[in-house]
Amino acid sequence: MTDELQLDVFCFGILTDFRTVLFPGSARLVELADQVRTLQVEALCWCGKKATHNARTENGEMVVEGEVIVVGDVDSLDEPAPEVGYEVLCRQHHRRRLTASRARAVERIGEPLPFLD
Ligand SMILES: [Zn+2]
Repeated sequence: MTDELQLDVFCFGILTDFRTVLFPGSARLVELADQVRTLQVEALCWCGKKATHNARTENGEMVVEGEVIVVGDVDSLDEPAPEVGYEVLCRQHHRRRLTASRARAVERIGEPLPFLD
């Protein structure tokens, strides 16, 4: 339709969710796009490197499993819903699940940095 009408369509958004999996809508846009450009947004990890991954946190701890879409402010009858947040991280810190608050906590207690395999 846009080709017949000779319309240019521009879409903006994030490509992947907190699991580094493409959102279905983003995936389809990339498949159909004539061009994909990464915008020069200065998103930085807490370490100063370019932030390339989105992390979801629950009560301050990074999680890598769960529903793609989380509805906030909904408490279950059994337990209160965790406080959900998002943080952009560099690939290395996403892999290590080392958020800014976790890094501060590790620094405070002098614990060795966590490594995953
Ligand atoms: Zn980092």
